[in-house]
Amino acid sequence: MLLNPGWQHWKLQYFSGPFAIMPAFRAGHWAPHRATQHTAVLNAAFHTTIAQLRDLPADSLAEVAFAGRSNAGKSSAINTLCNHKRLAFVSKMPGRTQHLNFFRVEDSRYLVDLPGYGYARAPKDQKHIWQALIGGYLGRRPQLAGLVLIMDIRHPLTELDRSLLDWFRPAGRPVHVLLSKSDKLSRGQALPVLRQVRAELLDAGFAASVQLFSSPKREGVDEAEAVVRGWLGVAKKTPAQGEEAGESTP
Ligand code: GDP
Repeated sequence: MLLNPGWQHWKLQYFSGPFAIMPAFRAGHWAPHRATQHTAVLNAAFHTTIAQLRDLPADSLAEVAFAGRSNAGKSSAINTLCNHKRLAFVSKMPGRTQHLNFFRVEDSRYLVDLPGYGYARAPKDQKHIWQALIGGYLGRRPQLAGLVLIMDIRHPLTELDRSLLDWFRPAGRPVHVLLSKSDKLSRGQALPVLRQVRAELLDAGFAASVQLFSSPKREGVDEAEAVVRGWLGVAKKTPAQGEEAGESTP
């Protein structure tokens, strides 16, 4: 099976594992669906990039963090949820790959794109900077309402995913897992993975929900959007109220 039961070893293994160096901006993603095709979207716009905890937005009332291994499909998921072609690729621009990137959904409510991890080895001092920033943010940000963890359904719950979850544990907040690239597996292959990830997170003591997600097929978008909206306290508006799909700011 794909899953590794060594949950208790997360912390030990973190620093010996591969570490994220996010590649610079990559092209080659599928063409997004036309904005007018879908009404379910979070209306998000880039707000700020921060490299130090003291720069966290002071006005924030609620935040939802997005995390995942590099290449897991995190940027695509954020873009799909916001029905925006390039929103999360801001986070892949040089100088921003190791930072927290904030996207404003509504006044004082943010999506927070965390650096991808596991892409390549990084120097030791870089790991410490990353740990201080991400660990500090995940464990001690009162406004952080929940964590969306994106995992490629073919490689769920890697050691680094487990390390990240361990950092988030002190927050005592819920986790919502997107098993991304679900279009790569048949239903018969995907459902057992879904069940097993659910069971493992429960065993590990997390209040976690888990769902299938596919950006190109738009599978699971409504479900994920509802979770994020609930955590942020952002109600869905009718088109007449001015939040039609496609209004999001580049
Ligand atoms: P990130 O590094 O986690 O932000 O991952 P990206 O969103 O950049 O996606 C990495 C690669 O996986 C890209 O080539 C995407 O086109 C592809 N990808 C992302 N999500 C999906 C998905 O749901 N299905 C499929 N088939 N490919 C995906």
